[in-house]
Amino acid sequence: MGSHFGAWENDHMLNVKDISAFYGETQALFGVSLDVGAGESVALLGANGAGKTTILRSILGLTPPRQGSIAFDGRDVTRVPTHEIAKAGVGWVPDDRRIFPSLKVQTNLNLGRKKTRFRSWHEKDCFELFSALEYLLDRDCENLSGGEMQMVAISRALLGSPGLILFDEPSQGLAPKLVQDVLNAIVQLKNEGVSVLVVEQNALAALEVTDRVYVLDKGQIIYAGASSNLLDDTALRRTLLGAAA
Ligand code: ATP
Repeated sequence: MGSHFGAWENDHMLNVKDISAFYGETQALFGVSLDVGAGESVALLGANGAGKTTILRSILGLTPPRQGSIAFDGRDVTRVPTHEIAKAGVGWVPDDRRIFPSLKVQTNLNLGRKKTRFRSWHEKDCFELFSALEYLLDRDCENLSGGEMQMVAISRALLGSPGLILFDEPSQGLAPKLVQDVLNAIVQLKNEGVSVLVVEQNALAALEVTDRVYVLDKGQIIYAGASSNLLDDTALRRTLLGAAA
């Protein structure tokens, strides 16, 4: 066990307990608690500015919480540096993809390779998820479409052999057919035993591909339950998420 990590008694993949986070003096999260079980997929929904991205940033150690604690895979990672959290097996697909445009697809993928205690992912596993990826390896990333870019971002995260993968708005800016491909990938990841936490503006789509959901408003969790419940209960969904949901 690395020196940064303390013991933690819980069998969840991720335990976020009562965290508060700030940008300078501005408080973005007010005592947020949530869990993701091993092999579970969980949606995190809420209006713009509710604090969804801040929760992902806190888990990754990019915006460490001022109060509360975060445990991943049984270890306290609350004050652990981001690179150690990644090495422990937390994968990230950021909303801006963060692909290096001047490098080839292959090179971008290579940058993600890591061994963890979790199942190792190889390129051929990514080709099974995204059949087009194999034919893109020699392309410069600056010439990719939004959907191709997202494929590369997800595959790069998977080559890091994550136990938990964090998606920030994976369907943002994608054509409907590609949105479906990305959502199918989330279902397949769950089937492969990877835990998923996904932030999405597209609430219905996210509810369709996840087991459980948390709804966030003004930095607080206002609802937690089974995704199917919120999918079936249109009135409750609209109360929580607005008329468009
Ligand atoms: P969106 O869907 O718009 O990304 P979100 O739910 O992910 O929204 P966050 O980005 O986590 O929300 O923002 C939560 C709050 O923190 C907002 O009030 C936002 O204005 C504030 N905030 C976010 N980033 C910063 C920053 N770098 N500096 C100051 N305030 C910030």
